[in-house]
Amino acid sequence: MTLAIHGGTPVRSTPWPAWPPPPDSAQRALVAEVLESGLWGAAQGGTVVTDLAAAFARRSGVPYGVACGNATLGLFAALLGLGVGRGDEVIVPAYTFVASATAVLLAGATPVIVDVDPTDLHLSTGAVAAAVTGRTSAIMPVHLAGSPAAMDPLNDLAARHGLAVVEDAAQAHGATYKDRPVGGLGDAGVYSFQASKAMTAGEGGLIVCRDEAVHERVWSVCNVGRRRGGQWYGHPSVGWNLRLTELQAALLLPWLDRLDAEIDRRNAFCAALERELAAVPEVGVVPRPEGVTRDSRHLLMLRMDTGVDRAFLLAAMAAEGVPLDAGYPPLGTMAALTSEGARVEPCPAAEEAARTVVWVRQAMLMDEPAAAADVAEALAKVLSAGGDASPA
Ligand SMILES: *Cc1c(COP(=O)(O)O)cnc(C)c1O
Repeated sequence: MTLAIHGGTPVRSTPWPAWPPPPDSAQRALVAEVLESGLWGAAQGGTVVTDLAAAFARRSGVPYGVACGNATLGLFAALLGLGVGRGDEVIVPAYTFVASATAVLLAGATPVIVDVDPTDLHLSTGAVAAAVTGRTSAIMPVHLAGSPAAMDPLNDLAARHGLAVVEDAAQAHGATYKDRPVGGLGDAGVYSFQASKAMTAGEGGLIVCRDEAVHERVWSVCNVGRRRGGQWYGHPSVGWNLRLTELQAALLLPWLDRLDAEIDRRNAFCAALERELAAVPEVGVVPRPEGVTRDSRHLLMLRMDTGVDRAFLLAAMAAEGVPLDAGYPPLGTMAALTSEGARVEPCPAAEEAARTVVWVRQAMLMDEPAAAADVAEALAKVLSAGGDASPA
C-alpha cells in the first residue's frame, strides 16, 4: 500500500473533532449574563470567579481555591504561598511542559530537573530522593497526560524531608489517585485553562489548597498584596494582579457539569485504541502510575519501538490523516533553563521518552471509539513500510 506521503490514499480523510468543543447553552447563557451585567472583573463585585474557585476546591476535596490568569502564574503563586523563594531548590520532572520549571524561576528559586520513571514517565520518587539537598524546599509532581503521579511515595518522601508538595495538575482536571481527586493530594494544586487543556477559556489558571494561611498568602499574591477584606490601597505584602476575568470564569463554571462525560468519552476512545494496538506490536500505550483510579486523558502517550525515522514517522502519519505530536524535549536540554541556573540531574528516561514517545492529542480522543481503528491502521501502514519508508 503506497503511503499517503508518497502519493497514496490516506487512511483517514474526515477531520478530527475540534478543540475546544462548541460552547453549550449554559456557557452561552452565563457569558451573556456577565456581559450584560458589566461586572467583567471580579474586583467589581462579580461572583463567577469566586464560584469557580469554590467549585474547583470542592472537586479537589479541599476548602480553598484562588483563580488566576494562567497555570504558570498559579504555580508561581502556590510556591510563594508555601514560602518558597530565593535560595530554595524545587524538584521538577524532566518530562513536562517548560512552565513547571519557569514558574520556579519566577519565584526566584532554582529548578532541579530530575528524571522520570522509565515506565510511566512520571516524576520518579527515587530520582527525587537522590536530588534532595539542604536547600530543597518543595517538589512539583506533574499529573502528566491526565494520569495522576503516584502521590503516596512522593508525599512520604516530602514529609520525611519537610518539603512542600505542589501538584502541577494543569493537565488533570477531574483525575483521581486512589479515589482521591488531584489538586488536594499535596499542599497546593494548580490547574490550567489554556486553550489546549481539558477545560479552557482560552487562558486561565486556578490554585487549590487545604491550609487557611497558605490560602491567604496565595490570595494576596494574586491580589496585589492586599489582605482579604482589608483596605483597597493597603498592601501589607508584595503581590501582583494575577486575576482571572469574570468572562473567562463564565466559560469555565458550566463546563464542570460536563467534564466527567468528556473524560468518559476520552477513556472510551483510549480503551478502543489500546485494543486496536494489540495488532501493532511495535507500539505500546505508556502505562499509568500505580494508584490511578481516574485518568482524565488529556493525551494518550504511545511508545514506539521501531527503526523508522521519527520525523518521517510523524510526517507520514500526518499525511495519513492522523497527526500525532512529538511531545516534550527533556527540560534539562533547554539552555534557557540551565543558563538561568537550573540544576540538571541525569535524565536517561526522559531522553529515551523524547526519542520514542509520541502523543495522541485530546481532540482526537474526543471522537467516537470506532475512529480509534484509523489511528491503529495508519500506524500499522506507516510502520510496515519500514525501512522502505525512509525519506531519501
Ligand atoms: C499547560 C501547562 C502548564 C502551564 O499552563 P498555562 O496555563 O499555559 O500557564 C504548566 N504545566 C503543565 C504540565 C502544563 O501542561
